[in-house]
Amino acid sequence: MNNRQNRGYNTTIIHAGQSPDPLTGALSTPIYQTSTFVFDTAEQGAARFALEENGFIYTRLGNPTQQALELKMAALEKAEAAIAVASGMTAIAASLWTLCGSGDHIIAADTLYGCTHALLSHSMPKFGIEVTFVNAADPENIRKAMQPNTKVVYIETPANPTLTIIDIAETAKLVHDYNAQLIVDNTFMSPYCQRPLELGADVVVHSATKYINGHGDVVAGVVLGKKDFINQVRFVGVKDITGGCISPFNAWLTLRGLKTLGVRMERHCKNAMQVAQYLENHQKVQKVYYPGLKNHPQHQLALTQMSSFGAIISFEVTGGVDAGRLIMNNVRLCALAVSLGDTETLIQHPASMTHSPIPREERLKAGISDGLIRLSVGLEDPEDIISDLEQALALV
Ligand SMILES: *Cc1c(COP(=O)(O)O)cnc(C)c1O
Repeated sequence: MNNRQNRGYNTTIIHAGQSPDPLTGALSTPIYQTSTFVFDTAEQGAARFALEENGFIYTRLGNPTQQALELKMAALEKAEAAIAVASGMTAIAASLWTLCGSGDHIIAADTLYGCTHALLSHSMPKFGIEVTFVNAADPENIRKAMQPNTKVVYIETPANPTLTIIDIAETAKLVHDYNAQLIVDNTFMSPYCQRPLELGADVVVHSATKYINGHGDVVAGVVLGKKDFINQVRFVGVKDITGGCISPFNAWLTLRGLKTLGVRMERHCKNAMQVAQYLENHQKVQKVYYPGLKNHPQHQLALTQMSSFGAIISFEVTGGVDAGRLIMNNVRLCALAVSLGDTETLIQHPASMTHSPIPREERLKAGISDGLIRLSVGLEDPEDIISDLEQALALV
């Protein structure tokens, strides 16, 4: 069994990137809680700075605990290389600033995580980087927005919070026709459910705060892609620009959480399907957005690029904002909190919370209505999640 040539994905989740500690034999990767690393000789120090010799220098540039997490993530996303960083926003900013400079142009999907939208719409133009937002569900809109200086196309699929699906393979092909690069935020899916690099994307970014760590006790991020690009992110994007390295302790917690990705995602997805079906049949629920439902407009596309449908559901209740507020104020098991991918079920209101940085007009155009509620289905017994929603919906 141990000699199987191609190990299964769950075995990779457990074993990739980790081996017993060479010094002590410790099976669990130690937390290398150090800021700096001692060189044997002045020559060795110089060789490490010149990148002629592998080895650690200073924790902002890399650390053994961080490296174990990076190797595991690279194996799971089928990437040449990975860098783990302080947060999802560090991953996104460091990637964009590595690929783009003053005078360049970015095309971004119009439905994005709120802070990513803010980074692209407010901060990038300050540095002379022009950004065009388009409805990326139709690749023709991306083609129409292409300029000679377009360097990056940036998407999330499923999109946050409308769960719109973008065809990754088709988009990658189009983007490459114009010599640009495709970045996909894979936070909602985790590599367990979707692997954009296999579909042709150039770069994957994660908020590892969510499913990758999975336990709601860390803020972290990961960038994945070609080796040369990841080196640039490490030695420019993170070392000089953002400085946003991950702490050894957070890298260790994330590595620990990641080991159960397979069992967690299976249960997350199963629970979410049950909750989505319950909501779909509820009289007081007007609309349910979940790619696993047959009536999701892109269910067929979802089947082609996702191995399961994730655990984020958005829904609209009859009675709009007021009804939504009533539900959020009366749930007892679901926690009224932003973030997602935790063991606990979380409920939140995108218009006034995660997506409040986006102007209302733009938000409505992107399909994020005032009354939309987002649910991150956790690992509780699904009957209990449903019963909690039932008693809150009964008040509407
Ligand atoms: C949370 C989130 C981010 C930002 O990640 P942080 O770890 O909070 O910095 C980016 N993209 C998506 C889709 C997210 O859900």
